Amino acid sequence: MNIKNPFYGISKLSQKISLRTLLVIPSVVLIFVAVLLTGYLSLHNAQNAVNDVTSQLREEITARIQQHLYNYLETPHLVNQINSDALHLNLLNMYDVAALESHFWHQLQLFEDVSGIYLGTEQGGILAVARYDKDQITIQLTEGLTKGNYYTYSSNKQGQRTHLVEVAPNYDATKRPWYKAAIQADKPVWSDIYTFVYPAGSLGITANQPFYDYTGKLQGVLAADFMLLKISEFLHSLKIGRSGQTFIIERSGLMVASSTLEQPFRREHGSREDARLHATASSIPLIRASTQYLQEYFGDLSKINSNQQINFSIAGGEKQFLQVTPLQDIYGLDWLIVVVVPEADFLEKVNANTRITVLLIIIVAVLVALLIGIFISRWVVDPVLSLNHAAKALAQGKWNQQVHLQREDEIGQLANSFNQMSKQLQESFTALQQAYTVAESSRQTAEAASRAKSTFLATMSHELRTPLNAIIGYSNLIAEEVLDMGYQEVIPSLENIQKSGQLLLGMIGEVLDISKIEAEKMELELTEFDIATLIKEVATWSLPLFTAGNQNQLIVHCPSEIGKLTTDLIKIQKILQNLLSNANKFTHQGTVTLTVKRLKLDVYFEIADTGIGIAPENLAQIFRPFYQVDNTTTRRYGGTGLGLTICERFCQMIGGKVMVQSELGKGSVFTVWCPDRKVC
Ligand code: ADP
Repeated sequence: MNIKNPFYGISKLSQKISLRTLLVIPSVVLIFVAVLLTGYLSLHNAQNAVNDVTSQLREEITARIQQHLYNYLETPHLVNQINSDALHLNLLNMYDVAALESHFWHQLQLFEDVSGIYLGTEQGGILAVARYDKDQITIQLTEGLTKGNYYTYSSNKQGQRTHLVEVAPNYDATKRPWYKAAIQADKPVWSDIYTFVYPAGSLGITANQPFYDYTGKLQGVLAADFMLLKISEFLHSLKIGRSGQTFIIERSGLMVASSTLEQPFRREHGSREDARLHATASSIPLIRASTQYLQEYFGDLSKINSNQQINFSIAGGEKQFLQVTPLQDIYGLDWLIVVVVPEADFLEKVNANTRITVLLIIIVAVLVALLIGIFISRWVVDPVLSLNHAAKALAQGKWNQQVHLQREDEIGQLANSFNQMSKQLQESFTALQQAYTVAESSRQTAEAASRAKSTFLATMSHELRTPLNAIIGYSNLIAEEVLDMGYQEVIPSLENIQKSGQLLLGMIGEVLDISKIEAEKMELELTEFDIATLIKEVATWSLPLFTAGNQNQLIVHCPSEIGKLTTDLIKIQKILQNLLSNANKFTHQGTVTLTVKRLKLDVYFEIADTGIGIAPENLAQIFRPFYQVDNTTTRRYGGTGLGLTICERFCQMIGGKVMVQSELGKGSVFTVWCPDRKVC
């Protein structure tokens, strides 16, 4: 496997996927990538936008809270200051209890945010007018504004006492924390936050201010109560996202107020008094988690010196935007305003929108991919597939394949080329089939002819040779008997019969030889023999030919020490007999010379005659089967025209060659080159 090429796997895989899928996949992938990118970017932008928006929102909410709290908390001190001025300027007399009582009662009607206005004296007494719910105002005082019994009266709508509600003994204002705090500070201050005994279930804070007579002598402490529930109600009225919260805590972490309206105190089991609630013990998870985070982040809540915006996550990974802002005034107030907004409040909608957008885009993408698929399928894949089917059918030999596309683009041109190719293939195949049919019938004809030839040859061999041998044999016997009987005159006729018979046998032998050679049934038999002995035998065999008829002289030149030769003895015998026979046949009263030469391992047999010779234009033809130089003089020599053909083929079989030189009217020289096969 080619591990260097990272695309090897992909290209391998792509070879198995269909063309249609392969063309649709890239467009679908592209659309999905675009969708995901768009979704991611829009979400990212939305997150940034939410960050900006919530930052502004926190700032604005905090500013509104600060504004309201300053307004709320300024009022009790304003009331004290008015009363202090009135006493100081003798507009009010602290010993005129009835006038003071009426003044406080009417003042309480004016300042709705103040729940109680009172005065404690250096003698331990008190005069207080308090409103614990909307309709009920009580007047509380000690006798002569000195310490002692503490009387609580209900009042009517004119501010007059109606009936005594309660008497509590041993009251001493100078022992109360609010009184002590004011004396100790010697200026207007806030008391610590406390829980109201009556009415139960609310937290309060009191603005305290020492007052003096015109000589500068301390007379007592003026006080105005403020119920912190007011702040909670205001915080509750603020809308911060879907589930954002605001709450106010002291530096110690104790709750002051919260938008949840959760009671900022708790009565422990078995206790008779309410205890203030620490924000980390709140039942509201957001308040609890925010305070815990602030404590961990700053180490101590007292270290928060300025406005801070912080993002954090609570359990479950929900991101929260938080702002903490210190709230301080000249009377010693030191609280922290906390605004927390969950990111989900804003992102929920954005996420929902993004989800819808992505979903819509995916639906559109799928539809577009489908359309692209259909388009590609119709326009590209289907034509290619039909070309593919046609090509497959063509490969299976179904030649009549045409693809019909009415198009002029590349695919149309491809289809045209295919159609042309298919047509040409069909034509070529038809021509090939016809040629094959013709060739097959020729082959069958040739085979039939060959069979006929073989049959003919076999017949000739058997049917002609047997009667010929009989004719020769019987003519021999008749000649002997006729000679005994004294009929001398029929002897020449009988000899003629014998000669003609021998001639016919020779011709039949030649025809059989050539047919064996052509059928490649002629075999080579190598033997070692003495060349001089061969020449003697051949000369002895041909001598009767020379003595009869043409009256030629045979001259033989063969060195007796010429040695031995390994080749096919029968074939070299036949070659030499044939050439000597021809030389004698085409020579009249001349000489035929048989010369044998040896050049190392090559032996040359040369048969030269002084006969009629061969014209140059016929020299190349005389080795062809059945060829005879056809003129009036030569036709009379008879023969089959196969002798030289057999000589040439035999020479080839023994690895040699036969060559001829001739001059018309002067004679011919046939040379046979025969290599020694022993060393070959
Ligand atoms: P054939 O049976 O006719 O002799 P060959 O194949 O032996 O057939 O010879 C072919 C022809 O070559 C002969 O018919 C003859 O015309 C010519 N030919 C062969 N040998 C000689 C020769 N020595 N001199 C002249 N012509 C020859």
